[in-house]
Amino acid sequence: MSEEKSLNFIEEIIENDLKSGKYETLVTRFPPEPNGYLHIGHAKAICLNFGLTQKYGGYTNLRFDDTNPVTEKTEYVNSQQEDIQWLGFQWKNELYASDYFETLHAYAVQLIEKGLAYVDESTAEEIAVQKGTPTEPGTPNQYRDRSIEENLALFAKMKAGEFEDGTCILRAKIDMASTNMLMRDPIIYRIKHAHHHRTGDTWCIYPMYDFAHGQSDSIENITHSICTLEYVSHRELYDWFITQLGIFPSKQYEFARLNLTYTVMSKRKLLQLVNEGLVSGWDDPRMPTISGLRRRGYTPESIREFCERIGIAKRENLIELSLLEFCIREDLNKKATRAMAVLDPIKLVITNYEGDGEILTGENNPEAEDKGGTREIPFSKELWIEREDFMEEPAKKWFRLAPGAMARLKFAYIVKCENFVKDADGNITEIHCTYFPESKSGSDTSGLSVKGTIHWVSTKHAKTAEVRLYDRLFTSVQPDAEEGDFKDYLNPNSKEVLSKVYIEPALAEATLGTGYQFIRKGYFCLDKDSTAEHLVFNRVVSLKDGWKG
Ligand code: ATP
Ligand code: MG
Repeated sequence: MSEEKSLNFIEEIIENDLKSGKYETLVTRFPPEPNGYLHIGHAKAICLNFGLTQKYGGYTNLRFDDTNPVTEKTEYVNSQQEDIQWLGFQWKNELYASDYFETLHAYAVQLIEKGLAYVDESTAEEIAVQKGTPTEPGTPNQYRDRSIEENLALFAKMKAGEFEDGTCILRAKIDMASTNMLMRDPIIYRIKHAHHHRTGDTWCIYPMYDFAHGQSDSIENITHSICTLEYVSHRELYDWFITQLGIFPSKQYEFARLNLTYTVMSKRKLLQLVNEGLVSGWDDPRMPTISGLRRRGYTPESIREFCERIGIAKRENLIELSLLEFCIREDLNKKATRAMAVLDPIKLVITNYEGDGEILTGENNPEAEDKGGTREIPFSKELWIEREDFMEEPAKKWFRLAPGAMARLKFAYIVKCENFVKDADGNITEIHCTYFPESKSGSDTSGLSVKGTIHWVSTKHAKTAEVRLYDRLFTSVQPDAEEGDFKDYLNPNSKEVLSKVYIEPALAEATLGTGYQFIRKGYFCLDKDSTAEHLVFNRVVSLKDGWKG
């Protein structure tokens, strides 16, 4: 029996709330702003929110937090939905904060009517000065004591479009001396004459995050509103609005966001990489986006396992990228069909082999329970092998090919290197071997013993492919904690393209979304750029964590 996992702090809260009868049904939400593609940090929040309702019952809503018309796009809404479903989760309701604009506006009017909000015509600079500092209280200004009627009239004019952007704002009237700066009369509505991706030109005033988020939670009867630690100081305000408005008491809980080494994790920064052409798009296989990871060959299972392993903490931490790589390696080790591909080819000729049309049998996956079945691999007199599997002057403990040395060809025979051919520039162009007919894998009666096994592809049966190898996108462990621009720390060698790789013919049938192990070379998957005439594979991850940092 597997060991019972201890509860994380949010699960403890939920179990207590359900036990005490505080809530009957658990309702969580995932609330992305549709201003970019989702990344692995979002995956953590998705796994948490959806995972909780899978475990305890209830349901999870998908709510697009679309209160900023300038940055939001329908393209992002669609990609975010696709990514959540690909990860294996399904929301109950698809909702938009913008659907609540009428209600939120009515809430703002209610606050004005209760004497708890006012229209402020100060400039942004004045407001900043009046706000005080963490050690000095703020100073109320002359607008703070306007009459309710005047505030209602001005807010109506703001809504009617009678003012330009920035002329005035609506503020909650809370406490200019609060130790929590966010409670010093926060802005709740601003004027923005901008087209919204869903409400079009209906509105020219938009609610601020703090005035939209908690109320949206409340409208949806969200019981546990889970967000990242940056929002700890917003909780007081979250509760204040809900209390003053007398609406459903959603509660906010904060956990540590995912930070990952050698990458940046903010849609805004990832957008810069896309816009400046530093990557090929949001789904560039080097991007930490869910779409990038998918294209790179990550499976939903490996990402969910990663999120499970990192757990839910209350303190900021930095997770090693190698843990994510470990998770995909583990998953593909069980799932990926093995195949042979020669990335840096050199020709090997078996001088005494006269067979024609010999077909060998290869096991598809020795790590799978059913071994993944077998496949046919054509063999012939001329093969491609890796250049690195031959050494003209072998090092000590060299178990592969060298003049006079023997090695086994995977699934095939033992060969012995007799000599080699060099071109005029001194480059080795061909290796000549003899083979031992009785040494065939599976029925070896040769009595020979060799330590090295190398992979190969028959030259006349080989297909060609382009192979893209990836390394970390940044050279710095924490690019956005460095001095200067995070983009200064991009790894110039993060992508290497091998334009002519020889692959065994079975790989021509490769399908998108399936992982393959190129024996001894790593895990690979077909890229979406691939066509029947031009196959393209991405390396998902190497076989071992070979990176020396
Ligand atoms: P970004 O800076 O990437 O845009 P964000 O927090 O502004 O991040 P949202 O779209 O507002 O992005 O986030 C949706 C949800 O995902 C929020 O609940 C947020 O707390 C969560 N989230 C975002 N980034 C991370 C992260 N790195 N780790 C865990 N959760 C995250
Ligand atoms: Mg955000």
